Amino acid sequence: MDERRLDGNATAGVLAEIFTFEMTTARTACVHCGATGEVGAQMAYVSEIGTVVRCASCNNALIRVARQDDGGRYWLDLRGVKYLQLEEHL
Ligand SMILES: [Zn+2]
Repeated sequence: MDERRLDGNATAGVLAEIFTFEMTTARTACVHCGATGEVGAQMAYVSEIGTVVRCASCNNALIRVARQDDGGRYWLDLRGVKYLQLEEHL
């Protein structure tokens, strides 16, 4: 499987399909180590089966996103984050 390791800003497109907020600037806290930071500052692993955002401090899987090929259905696993703090940009 071809997987590319990028910074968290690589998740902007797929997360924008689900959330209406700019998600790469959302602050997150890691369930495993407690580190906080923007989604865009974490590590993103992108492959044809989905995207995994991993904590830049401890490598815990924060966010997993998979999209069904025939469209319209997403799986979103947020169990690696304590919270996502979103800010509305007006
Ligand atoms: Zn962590």
